[in-house]
Amino acid sequence: MSFIDKCEEIKKVSVVIPVYNEEQSLVQLLDRTIRSCKQLTQDYELILVDDGSSDHSTSILIKAAENLDNNVIVIILNRNYGQHSAIIAGFNQADGNLVITLDADLQNPPEEIPRLVQTASEGYDVVGTYRTYRQDSWFRKKASKIINAMITKVTGCSMGDYGCMLRAYRRHIIDAMLQCNERSTFIPILANIFAQRIIEIDVIHAERKFGNSKYNLMNLINLMYDLLTCLTTTPLRLLSVVGAMISVGGFLLAVLLIVVRLVFNVTWADNGVFTLFAILFMFIGAQFFSMGLLGEYIGRIYNDVRARPRYFIQKVISIGIKDDIKKEEK
Ligand code: UDP
Ligand code: MG
Repeated sequence: MSFIDKCEEIKKVSVVIPVYNEEQSLVQLLDRTIRSCKQLTQDYELILVDDGSSDHSTSILIKAAENLDNNVIVIILNRNYGQHSAIIAGFNQADGNLVITLDADLQNPPEEIPRLVQTASEGYDVVGTYRTYRQDSWFRKKASKIINAMITKVTGCSMGDYGCMLRAYRRHIIDAMLQCNERSTFIPILANIFAQRIIEIDVIHAERKFGNSKYNLMNLINLMYDLLTCLTTTPLRLLSVVGAMISVGGFLLAVLLIVVRLVFNVTWADNGVFTLFAILFMFIGAQFFSMGLLGEYIGRIYNDVRARPRYFIQKVISIGIKDDIKKEEK
């Protein structure tokens, strides 16, 4: 069975866009995105999620939704919940079998949508994008580079750019993400956990023409922790590893002092400071190790609480009892 056989044919494309105080770019965004979607051979819907904007974004969006022939759906959240929560709200509404996410600030050109759909239709579960000539600050670019390299190391899945939100996800990946109970999440990472065939294509990245980035240093740190905790509980295990290393180091120092003193009769070895360090290291190491052990339990509790689906059935094929199984699957 080829991958294309495993994937459903794309019949409808949902484009999900989180919007937070983007009044200046919205008219252009709507115009360019609708024009791009009209080029598709599939049906489409445009879901804009207003994430508690305090400017005129909400009224612009409502006006767009009232225009019946542009397939726009607007979701208005009662306050600002953050980009990823807004996207999840959009996923809950989307009924296309391919869902594309996009930023509202026009840094991701909507003109790339047909290319994403085309790539997904080649049988990919997730189509990521890599920003060539990223138009962000030096600090943001360097930080992203380090984080992307770290993720590649942890997951073994080589992707150059997890930060670019211009992405396409198949229906079954969206369903899997919606079944996860976690509150803090980083969507591109979560999607990759459930995806088998992932590809990354190059896209153009534009400078932000209107307004400023909605991420200050604190938000970025928060986002980085969301990304890390979404990905792995390994840092908790690191405590045990570091603890064990310190303890073993302390023990080896103690052995060395005894040997040097008793065998080679070196007098500095009975200096109390060295003995104290050896004992101290052993105890500090033991403390770290115990924290790591607690961390192992916490990590498991965390995994159980967020209750990600353990697996996801894509298709059940059985002549005769097909319908019954389908019901159970839900
Ligand atoms: N956004 C959002 N809620 C927030 C912050 C951002 O919906 O709390 C939206 C924002 O309107 C934009 C997208 O998320 O459509 C990306 O935000 P931004 O361009 O500020 O991020 P950056 O490009 O600096 O990473
Ligand atoms: Mg941006």
